[in-house]
Amino acid sequence: MPNARSAVAVALPVPLYGTYTYRVEEKHATRVEPGSRVVVPVRGRRMVGVVTDAEPRLEEGRQYRAILEAPDEQPSLTAPLLATCQWIARHYAAPPGLVFRAALPSLLTGPGKPAPEPKSRRIANIANPLATLVERDAVFKRSPKQREVFELLESLGGRVPVEHLETQLGVSSSVMTSLVKRGFLSIEREATMRDAFGRRPRAPHVTLEPTPAQRAAIDALSAGEPGAVFLLHGVTGSGKTLVYIEVLRRLVIEQGRSAIVLVPEIALTPQTVDRFRAAFGNSVAVLHSALSDGERLDAWRAIRSGERRIVVGARSAVFAPLSNVGVIIVDEEHESSYKQGETPRYHARDVAVMRAKAEGGIAILGSATPSLESWSYAQRESYKLLSLPDRVGGGALPRVQVVDLRERNPATLADPYRRVFSEPLDRALRTTIERGEQAILLLNRRGFAAFVQCNACGDVVACPNCSISLTVHRTPERLTCHYCGHAEEIRVKCARCNGPTIKERGLGTQQVERLLIETLPSARVARMDVDTTSARWAHADILDRVARKEVDVLLGTQMIAKGLDFPNVTLVGVIDADVGLNLPDFRSGERAFQLMAQVAGRAGRGPKGGLVFIQTRVPGHHAVRAAVEHDYRSFVSKELMDREFPAYPPTVRLANVVFSGTEEAETMGAAERGATYLNKLIAKGRVEGVHVIGPAPCAIERIKSRWRWHVLLRARRSSELTRVLSYFSTHHSPEGGTANLRVVIDRDPVSLL
Ligand SMILES: [Zn+2]
Ligand SMILES: [Zn+2]
Repeated sequence: MPNARSAVAVALPVPLYGTYTYRVEEKHATRVEPGSRVVVPVRGRRMVGVVTDAEPRLEEGRQYRAILEAPDEQPSLTAPLLATCQWIARHYAAPPGLVFRAALPSLLTGPGKPAPEPKSRRIANIANPLATLVERDAVFKRSPKQREVFELLESLGGRVPVEHLETQLGVSSSVMTSLVKRGFLSIEREATMRDAFGRRPRAPHVTLEPTPAQRAAIDALSAGEPGAVFLLHGVTGSGKTLVYIEVLRRLVIEQGRSAIVLVPEIALTPQTVDRFRAAFGNSVAVLHSALSDGERLDAWRAIRSGERRIVVGARSAVFAPLSNVGVIIVDEEHESSYKQGETPRYHARDVAVMRAKAEGGIAILGSATPSLESWSYAQRESYKLLSLPDRVGGGALPRVQVVDLRERNPATLADPYRRVFSEPLDRALRTTIERGEQAILLLNRRGFAAFVQCNACGDVVACPNCSISLTVHRTPERLTCHYCGHAEEIRVKCARCNGPTIKERGLGTQQVERLLIETLPSARVARMDVDTTSARWAHADILDRVARKEVDVLLGTQMIAKGLDFPNVTLVGVIDADVGLNLPDFRSGERAFQLMAQVAGRAGRGPKGGLVFIQTRVPGHHAVRAAVEHDYRSFVSKELMDREFPAYPPTVRLANVVFSGTEEAETMGAAERGATYLNKLIAKGRVEGVHVIGPAPCAIERIKSRWRWHVLLRARRSSELTRVLSYFSTHHSPEGGTANLRVVIDRDPVSLL
């Protein structure tokens, strides 16, 4: 029986750093513990807060308002989870109430009612796929509009809600009707798209015998001390998932504990998720972004009650309300999608480590290309390093060949296809398709062309809201901003000098797709990028088609580099490795290496072996060289040296303080005042070993009509950075200054753009 409380400290879901004290009436006294939700009055409104302290210091003679309701029978946040949230609030200088809100289902923290369930909707499906260009030319000879819609649908994965086509993409309903009449399209009603993972056929569980290396890793992990952190460095195809499953079998099934498995993005890793479901059946709860608020609450309750003991999900699943957590696995731990982009700006990998310690469990961070942070922790032995150096089944890593784009015969460059596909890549692609094998092509830029430029004055068409060029898209035809979504007509004349010749430059996935189907008309091509996956589960649909060998060439952005395992893929081509290599960000080399190494790892996972081509203009770059040799260690040792001068993580800890506002001068002024304040703290000796860099305009100076300036804080010791941010955040409230100005603290940023 808990002690009766007379007052409690409560964190409210508002952007303020403090907590508020409320009186507890006797009828609620047994239901308020640290971690319990309470409903409290705030300026005539009701708000749901979380109790952080059950014995707050009370001021003599002060009147406290009473809590209105105590809805939790047992605290919504378990003690280890509450401690983890409080660590997040301190470490990331985030208002605690906003951290709790992020950790709980929205229906538990808002005053709102459950959202209405989605009604049935109409889905357009391709009913009769046309494989070749010849067939298309014949069928659509007199109906180019129908062809356009058909191919649009195809590029979107063959299955798209009618509403999306009509309202977002401007497709006319009469064209769709004609396609239906001709039997190329069918339109079906779908009750809901709810929990598509629940409806996915469950794969049979195949028991595999672990290799000696896997066995050693499983034994070491199962014997891990409470709070231990393991870095599982396994080359692509080395069978990390099997290790995870066997560790879960021991710690969860045999020892009766519970577990969290984090994956970068559920929709992109259906194969991994399927394997956990096959192995553990109904013990598994899959948390994904397509769950409705009601479904999310149902899942949360099933987890809180102990009905489900293994939770698989993306970033926010680290807050799953399990008790007695024995292990938290972070698969592909190097992925930047583990960092939350809004307050609280936590990194789920680092939260996983803190939570595992609080739970008395272990954390396993797995990757073929670990982040430099995790690697250096392993070097200093704060993390235990385990290696899976070989592919399972005796498979070899694919041979990687560099194509130097500077050394090509100029005569071939007149041909647009040849400009994109070098001779060796083209030859390999044709052979692969002829043999009935599959290829993956990576180009990390969506759209048709990178930008448009005036031939006369050199002006590049840029977004009116952001300081970034607009990208050319073909389906639908327009110029689009990838930051704010602004779209406009493709121009025929230069807006600046009225010059008549505007040229499209740079390459996007849409253009590569077009070149492929024109040049290799019999090849079945699927494209996977943000534009083709706007419909829910489009990712899984495309990947399932690849698995069924209905696709010869899978073309896409970085989305296709994540953990896919298709034994029939024998060729991987990186169309342009230089995209991203030269971004003004200290992690650009690391990102480019990870992307190349990960996509190369998709090749040759079956007995047929594999081949990889990397096309680049900088073959001597250490990221390219290391990717060719599959040499992660040589990459990290060079990259770690580069991060000493100037000092970047993991040599130092960083916090990026970003000021933004609609007025440029005001924004700059705020950044200057912020930097002055921080410099004073250092001058007064309040903090040591912290350097203030800036203020300076951000690399992308303007996003969504807001000017952006930043101040960078660099510290040798994590604790000093925590102190300086705590001073700063209490003096600059997050919405500080005028209503128009915003200050954002991004600690351990994954990007400085
Ligand atoms: Zn011009
Ligand atoms: Zn924009």
